[in-house]
Amino acid sequence: MNQREQMNVVIVGHVDHGKSTLVGRLLADTGSLPDGKLEAVKAQCKRNAKPFEYAFLLDALKDEQAQGITIDTARSFFKSSKRDYIIIDAPGHIEFLKNMISGAARAEAAILLIDAHEGIKENSKRHAYMMRFLGIKNLAICVNKMDLVNYDQKIFDQIKADYTKFLTEINITPKAFVPISAYQGENMISPSAKMPWYKEGSVLDVLDNFQKAASRDKMPFRMPVQDIYKFTEEGDERRIVAGRIETGTIKIGDDITFMPSGKRNRIKTIEYFNGPLQSEASVGESIGFTYDTEIYIRPGEILCKSSEKLPHVSNKFRANIFWMGKQPLIKSKTYKLKIAAQQVPVIVVDIIHVLDASDLGISKEPHVDRYEVGEIIFETLKPIAFDEVMEIAETGRFVLVDNYEIAGGGIILEPVFNNHSSLDEHINKRDYAWERSLITPPLRAQKYQHKSAFIIIAGKIDTGKERISKALEEALFNIGKNVYFLGISNRLVLAHENSNDNILGKYEALLHLGELAHLMTDAGLILITSITDIDQYDLEMLKKLNNPNRTLVVCVGEDARFSSESIDLALVENEDSDTAVKKIVDLLVRSVVLDPEYEI
Ligand code: GDP
Repeated sequence: MNQREQMNVVIVGHVDHGKSTLVGRLLADTGSLPDGKLEAVKAQCKRNAKPFEYAFLLDALKDEQAQGITIDTARSFFKSSKRDYIIIDAPGHIEFLKNMISGAARAEAAILLIDAHEGIKENSKRHAYMMRFLGIKNLAICVNKMDLVNYDQKIFDQIKADYTKFLTEINITPKAFVPISAYQGENMISPSAKMPWYKEGSVLDVLDNFQKAASRDKMPFRMPVQDIYKFTEEGDERRIVAGRIETGTIKIGDDITFMPSGKRNRIKTIEYFNGPLQSEASVGESIGFTYDTEIYIRPGEILCKSSEKLPHVSNKFRANIFWMGKQPLIKSKTYKLKIAAQQVPVIVVDIIHVLDASDLGISKEPHVDRYEVGEIIFETLKPIAFDEVMEIAETGRFVLVDNYEIAGGGIILEPVFNNHSSLDEHINKRDYAWERSLITPPLRAQKYQHKSAFIIIAGKIDTGKERISKALEEALFNIGKNVYFLGISNRLVLAHENSNDNILGKYEALLHLGELAHLMTDAGLILITSITDIDQYDLEMLKKLNNPNRTLVVCVGEDARFSSESIDLALVENEDSDTAVKKIVDLLVRSVVLDPEYEI
């Protein structure tokens, strides 16, 4: 059987502007009601001497639904020749917003009703804001009850002009404005003879013209990498990347790109857990891949197909969040962000708007309280990969963690590209507040007979970093340099490894370490530290924090987490102390930390 296309529609508007009437009318006029239903409800109204309302149709259907009589209306929908429309219930705004942001409800289109007789109400504006918050682009504005204003074009034009002005201010462009009479059935499913001046299609035409997003298997391929396994057999160097396919399909031989790293490869095999080998995999499958060439990949990356549209990679994005945290979300605070399989610290850079979900009022408060919706600019320390929620919801939706609890859900509207960074701002503020003494860095260097520097000995665990660091300290000390080995960095950073909030903890530990380094290099010291669990972005953060003082990075052994540009000196794994120290001293001389005459 050929499955008919479906589209989820939400109907919004001020109370009594005709939402239920519109739905009832669409059900009736498109022949989507059970046989005899309309007549039965009309007859019942007559018997009870009360005027017929289309809303009664919905009530009657709901009653039947509750009794389980009609299967067809289990989800109330109407049909056009093109597709089935499912009406999404929006009982309360809080529930609706929460459901939409969490993904429990998915409105793909919206109709916003305005009563021609009553005109634009505060709620008409608030509902438009709600559409903007949810990023619903398929929006039609229906100016209803045109019968009450004699189908007067001037009234319609005026409402259209006024409302368009408001929508433009909040950056919304509706797909259509339709003058209708829901009750009289004018312009509902066919052009109205009463409004010959309007030529742009009935409500049903407008709905049918809405573009539906591609189905998940037709979307670009996305598989967030949950884990990387090594084959256990002797000498088998292969790795399997494992995860769940969120969208798209993939087959053996496809060229793949991991994002955000941008590393490319080719699918070699598709491995099912306890399943037969297959050459193709698709949406919803939990699966593993091996690839042609061995590369270093971390869990959290998104596996994509190189030939398709790739996700955005940015460290800044605009998003709407629904906040449930006990403490309000505040500007400049760092939270933990979980998106797809990525977990990173995120800073609230700006709170653009706050929408109170109960009355949809807009506030300019600098925080987002519980059950409020906020439009926020977020910044992550490291670039992350994501999609815009309206394109691929699976990789465009995230949660925020505050104090070990999920405190909010959010949807990404777009990436933001600018050079402003929160870390730069922090450093600018720090430097501005820094009161300089009479002893300038050159005076200090002259006195100490060396310049200051922060030497980071990085690399994987058990490669001899700490031994080399201590040997270096001793050698420099013995020739009279002011040197200090800070032996706590690893523990500071690793202390958070097993705690719930290891990501935020690690970020904070690195911030402290950077500040500490800056303080000590400012005092003219050569500071040495060895550190295991960091990557290139962490290094860049430490360098920035230590600016304008010098940072030198020595990498012991191969470490794929660093780019070659971020390293000043590479040593082999477990290099003997004397050779290592000599190479580092050479580096210090080259970098003018030490004068050339120093021979160790
Ligand atoms: P809701 O609160 O938005 O769901 O509004 P309803 O659909 O319940 O409509 C509110 C009232 O407006 C009802 O009495 C409807 O009969 C009436 N109404 C709805 N559409 C029209 C219309 O096109 N013309 C007229 N004259 N009345 C309408």
